[in-house]
Amino acid sequence: MKRRIAGLRSRFSSLRIDAFLVTNPPHLRYLSGFSGSNGAGFVSMRSMHFFTDGRYSSQVKKELSGGWKIHVSPSSDTMFTMIRNAGVVKAGTRVGIDGNTLSYEEFRTLKKMLPGVKFLPKAGMIEDLASVKDRSEIRSIRKAVAITDRTFSEILPLIKPGVRELDIAAEISYRQRRHGAERDAFDTIVASGPRSALPHGQASSRKIGRGEFVTLDFGCVVDGYHSDMTRTVAVGRIGAREKRIYALVLEAQTRAVEAVRAGVRTKDLDAVARTIIRKGGFDRYFRHSLGHGIGLQIHEAPRISVQSRSVLKAGQVITVEPGIYVSPLGGVRIEDDVVVTDDGGTVLTRSTKELITL
Ligand code: ZN
Ligand code: ZN
Repeated sequence: MKRRIAGLRSRFSSLRIDAFLVTNPPHLRYLSGFSGSNGAGFVSMRSMHFFTDGRYSSQVKKELSGGWKIHVSPSSDTMFTMIRNAGVVKAGTRVGIDGNTLSYEEFRTLKKMLPGVKFLPKAGMIEDLASVKDRSEIRSIRKAVAITDRTFSEILPLIKPGVRELDIAAEISYRQRRHGAERDAFDTIVASGPRSALPHGQASSRKIGRGEFVTLDFGCVVDGYHSDMTRTVAVGRIGAREKRIYALVLEAQTRAVEAVRAGVRTKDLDAVARTIIRKGGFDRYFRHSLGHGIGLQIHEAPRISVQSRSVLKAGQVITVEPGIYVSPLGGVRIEDDVVVTDDGGTVLTRSTKELITL
């Protein structure tokens, strides 16, 4: 934690702030270890204060590390009332806040309570810091990925005509927890037949039919860290056009994974996959970004898209997930989790990417 706090403080001067008010729960967890849902952290160059309510009084003592001074609300005081009453934020201080997650109402309250303090939105700052993972973070992601891989191999025999998408999603959730996950990483996507053309087709009561694609996109959480994997399988025989789409997505995904390396611009990585799909004549049908960072959040920095301006850094963990969606024919997406290193990418996901026909 100390190294992370030091990383945060090292950015103060270039951002022209004196302190940072951390309110986004995954960022709080990153900087303190606190896994509860209600808390706030105030970090200046010299001090660190952590605020939470009475429900977390024992948890906060157990989880916090890095040298925080803990304040537990005695009553129903809001976090901001506590911060004001603690008197830790001096008038005239320039305090960075996360404009992406702090609501406008919270911002107004803050300004009202601490009138002499200047609050400056510095969205993405902690996210950028947290995008580079240390060894213990990568270990947690590896564990989550391994559970997801194992679950995938176990549920394959259950995917057959007549089974509802929701039943598959329930099995995924059950097995991931049985294998050690805290929870699902997000609402599992099980999209069959024409629904596989929906990039975000959450499991429905639709029954899987013969001769269809089924896209499964799921993951789990271990120590707060997420895995995220997509595989598309065929149930029974599929047509030549579907096979062509699958082969194209597989090629785009494989080439993009091979292109992962520290120093590569994320938009260039996106272009590797997008160019292959365009040359195959399907670029109209690939309408989302290539991937995203994973960590304490399921979607975090870096974003890997046409518009993104970031450059891959060693230690980032990203997804590579191109897809082609042709309605009502069906869709294919393939997604792996990859650690960025100085000389390439280490693929964490082990499940086969060859077309599985059930
Ligand atoms: Zn996914
Ligand atoms: Zn993803």
